[in-house]
Amino acid sequence: MEWTWTDLWWHYKYVFTLDITRYIIAASLSYFIIWQLFGKLLQHRYIQKKRPGLKQHWHELRYSVSSVAIYAIVGVGIFIGVRSGAFNIYRDTATYPWWISVAGLIGLILWHDLYFYWTHKWMHHPKLYRHIHKVHHKSVSPSPWTAYSFHPFEAIIQALFIPIFLFVFPIHGLALFIFMVYQIARNVVGHLGYELFHNAFITSKWLNWITTTTHHDQHHHYFNHNYGLYFTWWDKWMKTEHPKYAEEFMDVKARKSYQHKRNSTPATSK
Ligand SMILES: [Zn+2]
Ligand SMILES: [Zn+2]
Repeated sequence: MEWTWTDLWWHYKYVFTLDITRYIIAASLSYFIIWQLFGKLLQHRYIQKKRPGLKQHWHELRYSVSSVAIYAIVGVGIFIGVRSGAFNIYRDTATYPWWISVAGLIGLILWHDLYFYWTHKWMHHPKLYRHIHKVHHKSVSPSPWTAYSFHPFEAIIQALFIPIFLFVFPIHGLALFIFMVYQIARNVVGHLGYELFHNAFITSKWLNWITTTTHHDQHHHYFNHNYGLYFTWWDKWMKTEHPKYAEEFMDVKARKSYQHKRNSTPATSK
């Protein structure tokens, strides 16, 4: 099917609006509820000693908006792919058996986790880190606003996993939407700064394959461990999990509110 420049511009604005709205809702809700409203009550659950200052939040916000502007370009590429028949985002549930839609959603989550681990680890190569990934690591003590804080090159890499997936697998429009909500929610939770997960996410074999907030927080704090996104298995298989992951999680969870004083010193970046 044909497309016009007006179509492309309309789609760019549509994807940009959808994604920036998703980011602002997820980041601001968690920031205002957890950091502001319950910040004092939950201060003993704040993982690191130092808190980010306004300068860091401004850095995160600027780079997140720039990332969304890039995601929208990839979104236009997906629209062209669908129009040309290269990608199949279907809406009619009769197109494929229902389990194909479920498999599409699960497959996209597993693929994103794999893709993120390896591209992330690659961007920690000293030559790439200094020029690209350092932007994300300016947030040594992350906040919900860190979610999309990437260098433009990293934003392109981060966005390409969807078109690559669509080359081989059809996906239902609703499954894609659910995935987008899931990914921003997990992203913001990973950068929340407060550990709110139940201890079973460390102690139970049924849950310890899911990453907690401490998992990604340690990545920001120590730089060279815990590259994973949704699941802990890549870090376990590749032996990159932080040796004190479980210990630090349990330490934070064992703190009593009356023993912990809030430290508001801004974090420094490397
Ligand atoms: Zn990193
Ligand atoms: Zn991060």
